[in-house]
Amino acid sequence: MTNKLSLAILPGDGIGMEITQPCVELIQLALAQVGEPAAEENWLEAGAGAYTKLGNALPAETIDGCRKADAILLAAMGDPSVRYPDGTEIIPQVDLRFELDLYAGVRPVRSVPGIKGPLADPRGDQLDFVLVRESTEGLFASVGKGTRNDDQATDTQVITRKGTKRVCDFAFKLAQKRKAEGHIGEVTSVDKANVFKSMAFWRDVFDESAAAHSDITPRYGYVDAVAMELVRRPWIYDVMVTENMYGDILSDLAAGLIGGLGMAPSADIGDDHAVFQPCHGSAPDIAGTGKANPTAMFLSGAMMLDWLAVEKNYPAYDDAARRLTRAIDDAFYDGSLVSTERGGNAGVATITAAVKKALVAQA
Ligand code: ATP
Repeated sequence: MTNKLSLAILPGDGIGMEITQPCVELIQLALAQVGEPAAEENWLEAGAGAYTKLGNALPAETIDGCRKADAILLAAMGDPSVRYPDGTEIIPQVDLRFELDLYAGVRPVRSVPGIKGPLADPRGDQLDFVLVRESTEGLFASVGKGTRNDDQATDTQVITRKGTKRVCDFAFKLAQKRKAEGHIGEVTSVDKANVFKSMAFWRDVFDESAAAHSDITPRYGYVDAVAMELVRRPWIYDVMVTENMYGDILSDLAAGLIGGLGMAPSADIGDDHAVFQPCHGSAPDIAGTGKANPTAMFLSGAMMLDWLAVEKNYPAYDDAARRLTRAIDDAFYDGSLVSTERGGNAGVATITAAVKKALVAQA
């Protein structure tokens, strides 16, 4: 028995236009290798380009196409030269999180063998932890709602019981899954409970979630201290869960630990939908040059297949996910493939060819 997938594909802007097609080709190849039919591709418009062309950064047809798809693959959106009349940038990828209620931003921080991280300690090249970022509230609840006059501007942080509980439960369940795979079974709440009422409330709700998952050890860290520990000894972490803005900042820091934004995949997961997207933005400074590292996009594609395997209880996708991840690891393993962001010469074409070759070698 086989299963035909339907994918919503949003290439977006900048380097998103360059890294999406190669990623979709690799996903189709991995599916073919495990005997699955080609996924149906529904390419949809969104982003700064869509805003310029259609006057809408996230058209209704795009949202509709996303709702109907089994999973959503999104590359990168935004262009600093295209802004709303109030001066803010176009960020439909954030709007989509609210629209589809994608509350858990999953940022795996796994070292790809062969890629040296910036830390001198060799344990810094063997990282494997996950940052879970609450993605529907926190400081981002204020997007488009802040106030500003000549003397003062405000953006308000909103932390709800429902929003906190569901993302903490998600993090504890993820830690249970990882524990079954051999990880230590800990979740760290990253907050600022010593200063803000909203964060003390967050921690209370985290504790309620911890009590309901007694096989997992709860830990605590203030966000400033955690930022330091992420540089000093990041290998101590298993799963971390945090508020939206802290997660936004720490996930870029964490990306730096595994070779840069071009190596950092992510997923935004809700109860009914999920978007898979690299951590980086549209990188307008290198768009069109072919210098982008597409690996984060490929790893996001592998995460999508992995999620579909669980969601649809369909092991063939797990097999396809493992093949794609292994192809990426194999391509970088001997250390000769060095992306431009790490000072090498490899851009979209070279890295795609290397990963494809490694994938084909598994057939
Ligand atoms: P956003 O706010 O949308 O996340 P950003 O303003 O943080 O975007 P990015 O677009 O992610 O910025 O780019 C930050 C820097 O990282 C830029 O110098 C960019 O060229 C570089 N960069 C981002 N992604 C990649 C990639 N895949 N390969 C190589 N360099 C990248």
